[in-house]
Amino acid sequence: MSFVNEFNALVLPDLVACSLSATAADVRLSLSRSRLSLADFANLISPAAKELLEIMSSRSQQLTQRRFGKVIRLFAPLYLSNECINNCKYCGFSRDNQILRVTLSPEEVRREADALMLEGFRNLLLVSGEHPKFVSPVYLTDCVRLLHRDVPSISLEVGPMETKDYRSLVEAGADGLVVYQETYDRGVYAKVHTSGPKRDFDWRLETPERAYAAGFRRLGVGALFGLGDWRWEAIAVAAHADYLLRHCWKAHLTVSLPRLRPCAGEFQPLTAFTDRQFTQLVCAFRLMFPDVGLVLSTREPARLRDGLIPLGITLLSAGSHTEPGGYTGAGRDKLHHTKRGRIIELGASEWAGASELHATGQFEIADQRSASEISGMIRELGYEPVWKDWDLVINSTPPEERATAMTQS
Ligand code: SF4
Repeated sequence: MSFVNEFNALVLPDLVACSLSATAADVRLSLSRSRLSLADFANLISPAAKELLEIMSSRSQQLTQRRFGKVIRLFAPLYLSNECINNCKYCGFSRDNQILRVTLSPEEVRREADALMLEGFRNLLLVSGEHPKFVSPVYLTDCVRLLHRDVPSISLEVGPMETKDYRSLVEAGADGLVVYQETYDRGVYAKVHTSGPKRDFDWRLETPERAYAAGFRRLGVGALFGLGDWRWEAIAVAAHADYLLRHCWKAHLTVSLPRLRPCAGEFQPLTAFTDRQFTQLVCAFRLMFPDVGLVLSTREPARLRDGLIPLGITLLSAGSHTEPGGYTGAGRDKLHHTKRGRIIELGASEWAGASELHATGQFEIADQRSASEISGMIRELGYEPVWKDWDLVINSTPPEERATAMTQS
């Protein structure tokens, strides 16, 4: 049985209704339990729990320090290609957006990785749009193989693939797979994914299980906030995480809570999700899942990121670019448009400003600070920035020794 069956049996409207009508007494009862159920999680994200946010955040902070030590792991996204066969209304890479596109060669990817390694990163997330012609399983495997010699932790955030293709990536040296369902509301999902293979909701929902079967030992899930109702999405992500912890128990799980950012196509969020609700949600996830990694990206502004770090975040991106070639300018000489899978060369007028041209990014970054600035900020908060993914150490060592081992790397 896959998560699709469990998801279909989940009565999300009832759980959301319970959350909306929960009282402060319900929230206190949930907070008193040592193991939380999905109904408790719904209570923790209720309007009533807003009044108890101080208690929740203090518990969340203590729990995170007990389980993870005072360390924040850093990673950087490395965009390989912004070609895409899908139309997702909220994404700058959507097929019908007339943007500047490029797919980096494996050697160009290597240059980008070298630049990130010079900054200190040892944990890279390879990201790309979904396009079988430009971003094939063979291409991805070549990129991973080329980086694996020097990059200890390689994760992928690419279009969902078959188990056999995932196996090749694991054999080449990739160890993490991130896939966001975007929205767990089937109606909204159908509305915002207007064409392309991504329209298949269930195929995407089963992706982490295929990745696990292929040998990935780090799995990342999440929803993109700003599409469906945030409580609906949060409860669904919690149910998904709970399922994966039970069925894919050898993997280390991370949950990410990205919010929509401006991008080409100028899509506007369909639903609101305030900073305070975001903070409440981070605490609720930590209290429900003490050992799950919580990821915070540069989609969020600096001040909010700094404030959320002590409350439960364990993994942070830094100095990010969302366009292929963003770290070195690699691929600038072959920018083009793409129409129905065909490359359309740029006209002379477009090349006229060539020195400033670069591939279009997926979305605008909110926290523009460099990796070293972020690392300094983490130290100022009393935490240790860790550039390498140390899951093996994390899983087998007590927190005090863990922190020592990590900072000595
Ligand atoms: S969200 Fe992913 S699949 Fe959709 S258009 Fe963007 S890159 Fe393509």
